[in-house]
Amino acid sequence: MRHDRLRMVGRIIGLSAGLAGSAAMADMTSFDRTVTLNDHQQPAIPRPDQDATAAAELAAFEARTDQKPNIVILLIDDMGWGDPGSYGGGEAIGAATPNMDRLAAEGLRLTSTYAQQTCTPTRSAMLTGRLPIRTGLTRPILVGDRITANPWADETSLPAILGEVGYNTLLVGKWHIGEIEGMRPHEVGFDEFYGFYGAQKEITQEFDANRYPDLVLDPYMLGAYEELGNDINLIHGFSDGRTEVAIPTLGIEDMAEADLRLRDFTLQKIAELSQDDAPFFIEHAFMKVHTDNYPSAEFTGASASGFPYKDSLVEVDSIIGDIVDALDKAGELENTFIFVTSDNGPQMDMWPDSGFTPFHGAKGTTWEGGVRVPGIAYWPGMIAPGQVSDGLFDLMDLFNTSLSLAGALDKLPQDRFMDGVDQTSFLLADNGESLREHVYFWMNTTFMALRMHEYKIHQHVVMNEGSPFLWIDMATVQDVGTAPWLFNLYINPKEDYTVGHRMSPWLATMGAEMREHGATFARFPPKNIGL
Ligand code: CA
Repeated sequence: MRHDRLRMVGRIIGLSAGLAGSAAMADMTSFDRTVTLNDHQQPAIPRPDQDATAAAELAAFEARTDQKPNIVILLIDDMGWGDPGSYGGGEAIGAATPNMDRLAAEGLRLTSTYAQQTCTPTRSAMLTGRLPIRTGLTRPILVGDRITANPWADETSLPAILGEVGYNTLLVGKWHIGEIEGMRPHEVGFDEFYGFYGAQKEITQEFDANRYPDLVLDPYMLGAYEELGNDINLIHGFSDGRTEVAIPTLGIEDMAEADLRLRDFTLQKIAELSQDDAPFFIEHAFMKVHTDNYPSAEFTGASASGFPYKDSLVEVDSIIGDIVDALDKAGELENTFIFVTSDNGPQMDMWPDSGFTPFHGAKGTTWEGGVRVPGIAYWPGMIAPGQVSDGLFDLMDLFNTSLSLAGALDKLPQDRFMDGVDQTSFLLADNGESLREHVYFWMNTTFMALRMHEYKIHQHVVMNEGSPFLWIDMATVQDVGTAPWLFNLYINPKEDYTVGHRMSPWLATMGAEMREHGATFARFPPKNIGL
């Protein structure tokens, strides 16, 4: 992380970034943790000089192009931190990722980007700017779940706000934040949706007799499963209420080809939307590489490894290249902020149909392996090439940052607690520094851990003794003992040797920060939707 220790200790926190531009606050040597400008926003580290630089860059962009920037989020499902070549994977582990690597090399590669530990929590947090514990979307909504309240009824989504300020908004690919009426993407803010409601496995499991013979070959079991009634088709939905089956899912082949079909749709929409004066927001959410992976015919055998996960990763990487090329061809590349990431760590339960992380744990845990994901920010002409930063970035920050890019920060909800931080200046300023000091980790309704600078403190941990790969299916959540488990991630990235209370004075500071976080729930009680 780009900071020096004295500044770190002396930093003012508790100040909203947007309100921190005064000269007095530029003096980072003072220290006053009691100063709080509002009670409904995650505090940000004030960086007035950096904010001014980014604001000037954005103003110059607008003067040059006479528009707000397009925003394209490329969200991969369950890809590990260690999968892309630019993060140590790639060719070394049998699946080259030249397109992601090029964006990383020509943009900003973030090494400490954090997701939630599973799909629904991350996806909803990105689109609401709020922790799942606050919205009630605390775990994946699965086939057969019956929730007690529509969490979207009183949430404000990112596409809804962007739509208000003139953006065309589109979700292509996986949704996974509810498929009942009132919870679908085109009903909660997106103009248009072209994709699937659930994850790949939930769609293909009723077809794969090799993997699930006990379901597929048993008419009684299959009938009972089908009665649960999840929609497995490729859906085309519009904000005027039309919801149509675009392509029915009739077998495994339809899912194998799905990401290429989704790509074709995004390419077509980029061509169309680039003809419009309005900017666009596209979330392209891949179905791959969530288990069960069936690479398309074109990409079967495309990786050196030849395993379905690896072929699927090569396919995803190739599609990223196609989308960037399409933006370029449409003359929009220099007008578009692109962010590439994954919604959680690899699902090791399904190995070898799973990704790679060098960290401890996996999807379903709040160990680094479950929540630390690749994060690549790319915008030619606006983000200088060749940058790497370990500054903290939470995917919820895409909420505030997108509003900032769209000039819509004044529409940030004020009547609820917002956990995102506007990281525009971190991403845009050359050698920018993160404005986020804390990343809080929750699992369902349990507070698990806090990362602050290079330290991470756990109050609860996920354990799976005896089954090192089954981080979901054989795991338990355990309370820690007398002392919280504290790891210095710079010297112990695998989180297996706590420095505890005996070696780190940071324990007290982080304890106080956790109490502050807890106090936000007294002011703004969490929602329960029956998950
Ligand atoms: Ca996922």
